[in-house]
Amino acid sequence: MKKLLALCIGCFTGFAAFAQLDSVQLMKDVKTLSDDKMEGRETGSRGNRMAQFYLLDRFKQIGLKQFVNTYEQPFYFSRKGKRIMGTNLYGYVKGRTDSFLVISAHYDHVGMRGGSGPDSIYNGADDNASGVAVLLALAKYYAVHPPRYTLVFAAFDAEEMGLQGAKAFVAALPVPAGRIVANVNMDMVSRNVQQQLYVCGTAHYPALKPFVTAAAARSRIALPLGHDRAQDGPQNWTAQSDHFEFHKKNIPFLYFGVEDHVDYHKPTDEFSRIDPSFFYRAALAIQNVISEMNR
Ligand SMILES: [Zn+2]
Repeated sequence: MKKLLALCIGCFTGFAAFAQLDSVQLMKDVKTLSDDKMEGRETGSRGNRMAQFYLLDRFKQIGLKQFVNTYEQPFYFSRKGKRIMGTNLYGYVKGRTDSFLVISAHYDHVGMRGGSGPDSIYNGADDNASGVAVLLALAKYYAVHPPRYTLVFAAFDAEEMGLQGAKAFVAALPVPAGRIVANVNMDMVSRNVQQQLYVCGTAHYPALKPFVTAAAARSRIALPLGHDRAQDGPQNWTAQSDHFEFHKKNIPFLYFGVEDHVDYHKPTDEFSRIDPSFFYRAALAIQNVISEMNR
């Protein structure tokens, strides 16, 4: 009965365009993942494993389905002469068709560097606890609002070590590559003084542009297109995060991210520096784009 009631409430609130994601849980998830206890979530570390446990619990609560009786995809790579194990976490929400969208965000960060006080912890609140928190919010929403495409929710590991998790994922896709309509990647989405969330990828894949334009018209933050052309030089973000591994396989992508801020890859990228209002509106804007794609 409880479940039925929740579903009905979901149906009614579905009419209110700006009440579709759980803002309290969104903040709780980003706060937990960027807590000092997670020790900066460096791949292979104790803190990274703690983040995995938290995400596995959240995946279960949300009811994400598993492809092969597990959410975990372990993988190995070499770095500075060492063999390192990483772990991607993914599950899915069944859609009405046999085509897929892969919604991704990396949960690892750069760990701790030098010293031992709290100031030595690179919390990575914006980079990228924020993207993972939005991923969880979207998963929760679509689990009770079945989309057109089957949505694969992938929390990648080892992005900070050269997109290793995304690389391992596309090398062993759980579904045929030809059935993946697009990758929607989120990396740093919780703060920007100009109230802008960039959408990168439409220069490569113009067919995705109308979805962004339509969603932007009903979003409460700006969704400028860009950072995806050769003439952008070092500000071309095509190869800057996990979406690049999809792009290399000719799988279209949209990447959501803010321009770098003063706390980028610093211990001060903390929960307290997040802009809750921007963050929630960013989450809704991304949801608007995904909903346009699922029309
Ligand atoms: Zn990142």
